[in-house]
Amino acid sequence: MRNIVLRASIAVVFALSGASPGHAQQRQLCVTIDDLPCASCPSGAAETVNDSLLNVLERHRVQACGFVNEGKLIVRNEFDSAGYRALAHWVMRGQELGNHTYGHVSANNRTVPEYEADVLRGEQRTRPLMIAHGKELRYFRHPYLNAGSTPAHRDSLNTMLTGHGYIIAPVTFDNDEYVFAFCYLRAVQEQDSAAIARIGAQYIAYMDSVIRFHETRTHDLLGRDIPQILLLHANLLNAHHLDALLTMLEGRGYRHVSLDEALRDPAYRLPEATTPHGISWIRRWEVAAGRLPPWPPEPPEEIMKAYELGQRNRAPR
Ligand SMILES: [Zn+2]
Repeated sequence: MRNIVLRASIAVVFALSGASPGHAQQRQLCVTIDDLPCASCPSGAAETVNDSLLNVLERHRVQACGFVNEGKLIVRNEFDSAGYRALAHWVMRGQELGNHTYGHVSANNRTVPEYEADVLRGEQRTRPLMIAHGKELRYFRHPYLNAGSTPAHRDSLNTMLTGHGYIIAPVTFDNDEYVFAFCYLRAVQEQDSAAIARIGAQYIAYMDSVIRFHETRTHDLLGRDIPQILLLHANLLNAHHLDALLTMLEGRGYRHVSLDEALRDPAYRLPEATTPHGISWIRRWEVAAGRLPPWPPEPPEEIMKAYELGQRNRAPR
């Protein structure tokens, strides 16, 4: 019975989209950037990293959404005014900001009231900043893409977030870019120019493979393209390589759309499986439809090993 309902939902998606399998259409992409003001950045570099990202976004005519952890504005017990200026630049330059919780906490191991407290603490500066520029704080992105540990927990979280006026921002082009970002920052700090060049090239090749993977999964499930939502982070890797990444994506036929435009697609109203892992919404829809899809490609082994070793040697956050 459940499968019949799910198949019917997918059929409705086809009908509403007007698309048929194999129908050639321009692909659409929404760029989202998490962990603002900065993750995997040199100390004190938040403003320059974000200005670099904003320059590239403007050059490619991208209407992006940046998701903020306001807890990152406190550095060594001091308010980081450069980090706050970085957020202000996003708003002043016409980009959207969303809430990503104060402390980058996982919903999966918190009660709804605990999570709600962190969500509300995470909008104290962002909401007034948006209002001061005539904008509304509308979007919320779950840290680690953890959206609730059970269907009942997820539904309670959704009710809480909706009650505060938030729209949950899903991700379809999920990826392990943060692994490359960690290794890249280390290479920059060690002034290892060979590693800097190698990791940059591996990053773009990896993203190409992950994007192709998710395109295939989308077609396998829905028989058409959908407006895809890409997850990236505010980091030095993207400050240096976002231009190459967007150029690669545009070469695959993507034009940029806002989160608002992307979410109009009926695919984003398909049933979602609850998952202990932060995974692409495409996989959540596939699992909800009774499928067991393959896992996406992983970063090269040498990158994974360097990341894991670095994490082991790192002081706990
Ligand atoms: Zn995050």
